[in-house]
Amino acid sequence: NGDLREIAGPEEYFDSLFDADPELERIRETIRERGMPDISVAPGYGRLLTMLVAAAGARSLLEIGALAGYSGICLARGLPPGEGRVTSLELKPEYAALARDNLAAAGYGDRCEMIVGAAADSLARLEAEGRRFDFFFIDADKENYPVYLEYAIKLARPGAIVAADNTLLRGRTLNPDKTGPAVRAVREFNRTIARDPRLIGTHLPSYDGLALAMVK
Ligand code: SAM
Repeated sequence: NGDLREIAGPEEYFDSLFDADPELERIRETIRERGMPDISVAPGYGRLLTMLVAAAGARSLLEIGALAGYSGICLARGLPPGEGRVTSLELKPEYAALARDNLAAAGYGDRCEMIVGAAADSLARLEAEGRRFDFFFIDADKENYPVYLEYAIKLARPGAIVAADNTLLRGRTLNPDKTGPAVRAVREFNRTIARDPRLIGTHLPSYDGLALAMVK
């Protein structure tokens, strides 16, 4: 759509081909208005989430890390009309409230469940309740990615899809000088996606990296 001379790289090029998305742009506006960090999923990966939910025929979706509801809306868009549900785990009550409002404004109010608190605690409760899901989007504190992946595998119906954002940590993951807890956890997570026999996994290296796996 745009002038190719003004396009910085492949991500911007592909993004420029799509129509404007006022519903998602409004979410970014609410983030700016409140001075929150705009760390919503990248637009191309948001579209991928919608496509994967629809292609997998997933009905019960679990998101770890809601922020303002941008990825929640992308996930919900993949559900069939009037069916299915997005459950979001979010640490901060004010973010959970904003995400709930934004999902309601997008028409998914009756199909969204927000659970406030540390995700590891919420996941333990969901496990104790015997809840099962067929799609997971992991996008919260990076130190806990290995913990979240283990829970996803436990809570998965066979064939469930797991997606996880920011697996490159803006380059820190592959910088040998970086050895902090988030980097170590994400490296371990990435290896598990690649090697765990319970998964069929792959890694997408654009934007900030996205891991994808199917639970066998
Ligand atoms: N998935 C969102 C999107 O794409 O629109 C972005 C999520 S943002 C990258 C990470 C979110 O995880 C923040 O809202 C943060 O408050 C939340 N978070 C951080 N630590 C958490 C924890 N231990 N449990 C639950 N949520 C947590």
